[in-house]
Amino acid sequence: MTSPMEDMSRSDLELSPERMLELAELASRLIVERIQGLDAEPAWRGGSRAELEAIMREDAPEEGRDAESVIRRAAKEILPVAGRVDHPRFFAFVPSSPTWPGVLADYMAAGHNIFQGTWLGASGPSQLEIVVIDWFRDWIGYPETAGGLFTSGGSAASLDAFVAAREHAGAPERATVYMSDQSHTALTRAARIVGVRPDNVRMVPSDERYRLKMDDLLRMVEKDRAAGFTPIAVCGNAGATNTGAVDPLDHIADYCAEQDVWFHVDAAYGGFAVLTEMGKSLFSGLERADSIAMDAHKWLFQPFEAGCLMVKDVRRLEAAFSVRPEYLQDTEWGRDHPNFGDRGLQLSRSFRALKIWMSIQTFGLAAFRSAIARGIELAERAEAYVRASDILEIANPASLGVVCFRVCPRQTLLDDERIEEVSERVQARVIETGTAMMSSTRLRGLYSLRLCILNYNTTWGDVERTLAAIERFALDELEAAAP
Ligand SMILES: *Cc1c(COP(=O)(O)O)cnc(C)c1O
Repeated sequence: MTSPMEDMSRSDLELSPERMLELAELASRLIVERIQGLDAEPAWRGGSRAELEAIMREDAPEEGRDAESVIRRAAKEILPVAGRVDHPRFFAFVPSSPTWPGVLADYMAAGHNIFQGTWLGASGPSQLEIVVIDWFRDWIGYPETAGGLFTSGGSAASLDAFVAAREHAGAPERATVYMSDQSHTALTRAARIVGVRPDNVRMVPSDERYRLKMDDLLRMVEKDRAAGFTPIAVCGNAGATNTGAVDPLDHIADYCAEQDVWFHVDAAYGGFAVLTEMGKSLFSGLERADSIAMDAHKWLFQPFEAGCLMVKDVRRLEAAFSVRPEYLQDTEWGRDHPNFGDRGLQLSRSFRALKIWMSIQTFGLAAFRSAIARGIELAERAEAYVRASDILEIANPASLGVVCFRVCPRQTLLDDERIEEVSERVQARVIETGTAMMSSTRLRGLYSLRLCILNYNTTWGDVERTLAAIERFALDELEAAAP
């Protein structure tokens, strides 16, 4: 009889090295097959709750099952029932097409189970996070005082920024924040979380190209100050999700400096366009912002989650977040050894910088620059196509990979409401037929189709095919709707 002490058998949760490699190889093969087969698949798949309940509902099994069949079930029944955000004809919302080294980096970071909250817990990874953040700092044109951290995404980055802004303003009780009516709802939510009442989040009107109107900003701030409010932040867009619009960053920076108000730029969507000539010139004034949110899972071709917050004076971020509990007293290495857990809301953090580092090391920055430039160019070609079309018209010209347009025959007898119905059916057919995935928006209240072209695999053929199908469906639907 063996006593429990002598029992040398493995834990039930352990696998042999051979088994580990077998399973990893199967998982890798299924992912590569998926990526190779993407073009022949529709860009979107979804299911109703009832359909999916039937497939997935079960109690957690007491006994384990064959690991291969578990992996296959995940790859066949669960993972494919989703938008293929990396499909070359996924033009909806904001696409995301990760590079393979980035995917592997997430796997490696998980395999090494890096705890990226303190320098003590992860010196090497912390050093690399500094290096990659400094790359971003240089791309933006930020000074040496700047620093930041990787976050889950733009929402978390904006939230962290607003905490710093609030503290910088002395945490006033009646706080207001300002953003254009084109700003992402992530900002509205972040403002609420930091304690700005929803009715104190000011939506500043935008101009005919969807850029924040300075006159209105000035007027609103003045009125609020007179009424006893304290503005804690003004937000600018460097690529609004709806239209790709870029706010007058230089003017906002001037005004915020004069008013001593925190200037936050939401560059979650467009930020990495700064790697191109066009982006660089569009974003003039970006480097003057107090903080900038950027999403590497959008235009830097990384898997989710790869958000980032950059702060011009990183000490302000640390002043807002740093806490020193007794149980972390061993983790203080002193100046120049940041604990990234002191720069935002997460203590247990994954090692996100690795994916950016590995993919840029592998392909080189030039490849990223041209992939970003290509998205911008494809959207411009789409605009030209729409302008030449008899049945479509531009609602907002191409900007940073986004182009918005409407169904509009030259001499129509249909009113806006009927046109909207036609447009909705056109969009539904584009998706149903598996032609592409696209979403719509409203611009000044009017329904608009929208293509967002960011994928490094998307070709002009993909865009042209989609636009031609839209024209065809529009003709059909207009005929059916003719009075
Ligand atoms: C995507 C996006 C966000 C939100 O970022 P998440 O990464 O989804 O949290 C905020 N602002 C803009 C402009 C965006 O495009």
